[in-house]
Amino acid sequence: MTTETTLDTLPKEKSVEQNSTQTTVEDIKQVTQPNTVQDKQLEDKQLEAKQLKEKVPVEKQVEAKTVTKPAKANHPKAEVQTPAKAKNKPEVKVETQISAQSKKLEQSAEEKAPTIQHKEAVHIYDTIVVGAGISGIAAAYKMNQAGYNDYLVLEKASRVGGTWRDNNYPGCGCDVPSALYSFSFSPSHKWSHLFAKQPEILSYLEEVVEKYDLGEKIEFNNELISAKWDEAQHIWHLETSKGQYQAKTVIFTTGPITEPALPKLKGIESFKGEMFHSARWNHDYDLTGKRVAVIGTGASAIQFIPQVQPLAKQLIVFQRTAPWVLPKADMELNETAKGVISRFPIIQQTWRNSIAQILNGINFGLRNPKVLEPVNFLSKQLLKLQIKDETLRKAVTPNFTIGCKRLLFANNYYPALQQDNVNLIAHGLVEIDGNTVVAANGERHEVDVIIWGTGFEVSHPPIGKRVYDSNGQVLAERWKNSSPEAYLGASIEHVPNAFLVLGPNILVYDSFIGIAEAQVGYIVDGLLKMREQKFTRFEIKADVLAQHNKRLQKDLKTTVFNAGGCKSYYLDENGRNFAAWPWSLQQLRNQLKQLDLNHYSVSKK
Ligand SMILES: Cc1cc2nc3c(=O)[nH]c(=O)nc-3n(C[C@H](O)[C@H](O)[C@H](O)COP(=O)(O)OP(=O)(O)OC[C@H]3O[C@@H](n4cnc5c(N)ncnc54)[C@H](O)[C@@H]3O)c2cc1C
Repeated sequence: MTTETTLDTLPKEKSVEQNSTQTTVEDIKQVTQPNTVQDKQLEDKQLEAKQLKEKVPVEKQVEAKTVTKPAKANHPKAEVQTPAKAKNKPEVKVETQISAQSKKLEQSAEEKAPTIQHKEAVHIYDTIVVGAGISGIAAAYKMNQAGYNDYLVLEKASRVGGTWRDNNYPGCGCDVPSALYSFSFSPSHKWSHLFAKQPEILSYLEEVVEKYDLGEKIEFNNELISAKWDEAQHIWHLETSKGQYQAKTVIFTTGPITEPALPKLKGIESFKGEMFHSARWNHDYDLTGKRVAVIGTGASAIQFIPQVQPLAKQLIVFQRTAPWVLPKADMELNETAKGVISRFPIIQQTWRNSIAQILNGINFGLRNPKVLEPVNFLSKQLLKLQIKDETLRKAVTPNFTIGCKRLLFANNYYPALQQDNVNLIAHGLVEIDGNTVVAANGERHEVDVIIWGTGFEVSHPPIGKRVYDSNGQVLAERWKNSSPEAYLGASIEHVPNAFLVLGPNILVYDSFIGIAEAQVGYIVDGLLKMREQKFTRFEIKADVLAQHNKRLQKDLKTTVFNAGGCKSYYLDENGRNFAAWPWSLQQLRNQLKQLDLNHYSVSKK
């Protein structure tokens, strides 16, 4: 299942569903300029790593992993002579990454080993965190707070930020007010608007890392290639682009909304113009005076369409399903306002609490669709006010209960659609014929550029291709016929000593940051308990997981996501809701307050 950029959760609908087996970026590389090791390359890398291991005598492998000198007292390195920290280096392109990785692996095993000055046992970290987006930052902060210091964060890119580093399309911003879409432990008085835009959010995340000295725990340009559980030793072996690591526990904070999804379309390879996905925006391409096709009308598209419209000669918007778009209560915060917020933190706190209450109310409605009926009616009235042309209004009026697909907020989307150079085609794109885009109703338009606002592949987290369970099976294989299940979105069966953040069925209509923080609190509580009680292995009990998911799926049936009359993006290919949490945010918080050891099978080596 794919999603368009989303907020509450998972994103969205498939915008071009007609044809379609969805595909991910590797199929059409130039479209998305991926910044990560892609599937085929991943297989090659994993194979290469395996062969290398087989080739190199065990003793030498250990040598290769020894350190010449720990870089920092609290940061024992496990890999071979790590290159200088690449904090300020530009993003590494995929090809470069791959060849760098290959070189690294070869070097580590064959060239570097002889130069090792003194041998130490490979350091086994208490925890390795994979990913330095919001969740990874929250994990690092909470571990520091708890005095849990023997950890490391691996980040494949050259800077933190995840979503907010990779999505930098024009108009990109959050649609939960920033007072709530920020860490509870680090409120900011600098937001220029009630809803911050991407550059500010990214700066904020970097400032948090700086403020709490989290940077020294993060290894940039270090991509996890595979993680394998060692049942004999009760440790994880991590193969990364910089070498091999070991850890007693792993936290995967690799993100729920990362893989751009593209439809498989007839003739796509015949297109000679420019094309890119919203999450891999080509800023070098000047849209001025161009004929632009935008595919999709999800959360990202409604943010960038108003920015593209004034530049384009002609803008063709392909809409498969009309989303609910509500007015955004945004406002600029001038220097005076920022000064007041800075002097009186209570204002920010009160604002945060009020938004949380409003979202609670919305969540109640999503769980009880009847409550939403008057909202539906009002929203349709609002559409009448916003869109004068009856044909256009009909075309953009959703045909499902509000909330079934993610609620979108924008004040400039409908005005943009009503400009003379814009043509909304309320049909999906079915074919590309040279430079002509062809809609399901046969309409054809020649264009210079295609922008894919087709959302993300969300039902099968990409990390599944890299993690092997206690039976030695890669998770993607286990998940190939169905989306994953986890306990509280964090604990997966047969994946001991590991947690996923923002995993399955954890999403309520709220700030992802708040949800990630709550989950990370649960995880760190568990890590401390395991360490205190000297357990070397823990795994979610099968019956706890099964009962949880049975109840969860039963209660989801009556929510608007399942019953709202839309093909919700919360549903996987089998119609199972893999994304939403069916109960209140408070219930989620209560369950995440602490990790109950009774829910886990624990043992000592
Ligand atoms: C455009 C957009 C707008 C959004 N707006 C909102 C909003 O308004 N409100 C809201 O609540 N939510 C919103 N979201 C949801 C958003 O995804 C989450 O809020 C949040 O960014 C998730 O954080 P994360 O750290 O879990 O994952 P990510 O931000 O995806 O970070 C994951 C990190 O892991 C790294 N990584 C991945 N794989 C590897 C690997 N193999 N090795 C090493 N590193 C790896 C990545 O490089 C990345 O830095 C939005 C999402 C998008 C895409």
